[in-house]
Amino acid sequence: MNEIKKNIEKIKQQIDQACHAVVINNQDSRASSNYRQDSVTLLAVSKTKPASAVEQAYLAGQRDFGENYLQEAVEKIAQLSHLPEISWHFIGPIQSNKTKQIAKNFTWVHSVDRAKVAIRLNAHLNEYLSEINQPHNCQDISLNICLQVNISEESSKSGIMASELFSLAEVVDNCDKLTLRGLMAIPEKNTGLASYEKMQHLFKKLQAQYPTVDTLSMGMSNDLSIAIAHGSTMVRVGSAIFGERN
Ligand SMILES: *Cc1c(COP(=O)(O)O)cnc(C)c1O
Repeated sequence: MNEIKKNIEKIKQQIDQACHAVVINNQDSRASSNYRQDSVTLLAVSKTKPASAVEQAYLAGQRDFGENYLQEAVEKIAQLSHLPEISWHFIGPIQSNKTKQIAKNFTWVHSVDRAKVAIRLNAHLNEYLSEINQPHNCQDISLNICLQVNISEESSKSGIMASELFSLAEVVDNCDKLTLRGLMAIPEKNTGLASYEKMQHLFKKLQAQYPTVDTLSMGMSNDLSIAIAHGSTMVRVGSAIFGERN
């Protein structure tokens, strides 16, 4: 078995264990009913790694891949267009002059943190669909959006402040080609559990308002179990699958 396939199986076991722990420890309704391993999606973060590594992961059954850098991603997406079920997620900081390429190439964006970016993504997707002659009212083509929250309030990090989150959610929900799926965060290391708890709370609040919200994108190679314990439904794992980045 190759290294990437081995790593994916190891991570899936870790996800499974974290889900079981939720069932055992948690008193909330999710625990008693049907919180299973398949309720947490594994997003393989392939930034800086070659298309050949992504293809190996795909052959091991992995379908969702995350990229941070647009130019690098667009090249890989073109190289791998023969893989029918692959799904690309943009997870890096977004400059507004990149929204056209993002709308065209990705099915998910996790890092929307301001209205201008949301509105531009929506306009570009409409434009692109009319270029390829998809009817505008075509229901099943939309871009899945997570709002990135700067939960540890670090000045160096992207993400919207929690206090402004709900007005941004409304903007996204009003865009005809965007589907509001949930929240994304990168909790700061060494701040204990407070950021995770805050995200879990915000996510529940957003879910109560918008029926399309089902995704809490939280947890990476080193904190995926903590994140799942706090309600994460999608973990973004890079180095533990593909090895350390240079
Ligand atoms: C790089 C990156 C990851 C993956 O990090 P690892 O520690 O390698 O698992 C996840 N999320 C975002 C937003 C990233 O930039």
